[in-house]
Amino acid sequence: PLGVGVAVGGWVDRDSGTVVEHPLLGWRDVPVRELVGARTGLPVHVDGHARALVDAERLFGRARGSRSLLHLFVGNVVDAAFATHDQVHHGPRSQAGAIAHLPLAGGTEPCDCGRTGCLQAELSERTLCRRARAAGLTDGTNPMHVVAAAADGDAVAVRLLLERARMTGRAAGLLLDVLNPESVVVTEVGAMFRADCLAALRAEVGAER
Ligand SMILES: [Zn+2]
Repeated sequence: PLGVGVAVGGWVDRDSGTVVEHPLLGWRDVPVRELVGARTGLPVHVDGHARALVDAERLFGRARGSRSLLHLFVGNVVDAAFATHDQVHHGPRSQAGAIAHLPLAGGTEPCDCGRTGCLQAELSERTLCRRARAAGLTDGTNPMHVVAAAADGDAVAVRLLLERARMTGRAAGLLLDVLNPESVVVTEVGAMFRADCLAALRAEVGAER
């Protein structure tokens, strides 16, 4: 049967089809299933994007057949999802994977919550782009500009991306210690486009254990 799947960042409650909280979009208790269902007349399934991607990897990706799988998503939002034995773990009100404010060792970035070095403050694309703007690399908020500058050989862009990849590896290491999954999928723009960033990320995960 035809239906609509909606994958969103932030805190998404699958059971009620609601985006409970997405601070960057300014959304609070938005009944996405109801709204999209009313417009389309179709059944609507709503879930957090980190969990939706875990399902995609499990069903179609290289992680197929893996008995336990962790996905760490590092974009503007930073969150995680964990699946074991063909089940993505949601927990009460689908709050599992809300890791935005876990403290990251070595983090220096002030967070909206009042603390310093929270995962999301440290790793978000906003932070990367702000550092890139401070270095005169870009005047925008698109992380692909930093990736492009690095591809053109800009040493500062390369350094910013390597730093972020290392810190992402550190975050992945934290989650690995807690969950011990068979496979890990990391979504992070530097590691997606650059072999040196992927290597830095891997090395940091390895250094943790
Ligand atoms: Zn915080």
